[in-house]
Amino acid sequence: MMATDIKSDIPKQEKKRKYDVVILGSGPAGLTAAIYTARAKLQTLVISGNLPGGQLMTTSDVENFPGFPTSILGPELMMNIRQQAERFEAVVLDDIATQVDFKHEPFRILTTSTEFETDAVIVATGASPRKLGLKSEETFGGKGVSYCATCDGPFFKDKDLIVVGGGDSALEEAIFLTKFAKNVKLVHRRDKLRASRILQERAFDNPKIDFLWNSVITDISGDKKVHVVITQDVESNETRKFDVGGIFIAIGHDPNTQIFKGQLDMDDINYLKVRNHTYTSVEGVFAAGDVHDHRYRQAVTAAGFGCMAAIDVVKYLEEKHYKSTN
Ligand code: NAP
Repeated sequence: MMATDIKSDIPKQEKKRKYDVVILGSGPAGLTAAIYTARAKLQTLVISGNLPGGQLMTTSDVENFPGFPTSILGPELMMNIRQQAERFEAVVLDDIATQVDFKHEPFRILTTSTEFETDAVIVATGASPRKLGLKSEETFGGKGVSYCATCDGPFFKDKDLIVVGGGDSALEEAIFLTKFAKNVKLVHRRDKLRASRILQERAFDNPKIDFLWNSVITDISGDKKVHVVITQDVESNETRKFDVGGIFIAIGHDPNTQIFKGQLDMDDINYLKVRNHTYTSVEGVFAAGDVHDHRYRQAVTAAGFGCMAAIDVVKYLEEKHYKSTN
């Protein structure tokens, strides 16, 4: 049974638990934050979100996370980090936060099953790569369809590749991929790039990159891995078939910030605004990882931000406690 609290934005639920800190998101940022806050003896709850473990759960080998000289599988890395947080008694709940109230203290967080109260929050909900929306894109996810050249590029040595998109990310990825690939074809839906002039110049000057304009991807196929990509010209409807070893989709990311609208300040593309490294616009609410960082977007930088946010939470709660007892 739920009752509506007129002073608050979210309905009250009967089951309620209080934690020192609630961490929203269970990617490298959220779980690293949990290791630090739990180890500092704060009662810590992690609410995992839609994809427990985050984006690395859909990656195969991770070769650039320090400490694993012969690489580690993305899901295995995330399971290890989760176990490390649980060892310090962080509670990791596989549930989704559906509403938050950061306007009143203690802060309240509603999940699909429970209401939680907390003195501090770390938002580590990450960002999701935009998808083309093809069924075959899902089928070949991690099997030749990638959303991160830095992560997966080295697996495509001497292959012919396609990169989709016309922004800075697409051009940066295409240029990066030429270190490994035989050839990179950039497929863009218009005849003009959105990317910055300097990246455009570098891409046009790169002999390994060619462009297919006014074209969209209509199908991806293969056996165990991608072998074929079909494109369609948006003006003539002409379709073309390309034999490729992989396709990198770089059409932007969307930060997972929908539930914080009206609660936390965001920039014009909905990333959380931070000041002083991890502080959001609400005192006691901190941000870590891709939810505010669209520049680096790496597991290791997200983990670093998680560590920073946790240290800031520990300091914030100590000061709050000191003020209330003096
Ligand atoms: P973006 O600027 O939003 O560009 C997305 C690109 O994908 C656009 O060219 C867009 O086409 C295309 N696109 C979007 N949806 C599509 C769809 N469904 N099918 C086919 N194409 C689609 O995203 P971004 O490149 O990831 O950059 C995001 C932000 O990060 C930008 O502000 C960017 O400047 C910044 N960034 C900077 C750097 C750098 O400075 N080195 C590197 C990476 C990113 P249209 O052009 O037709 O809309």
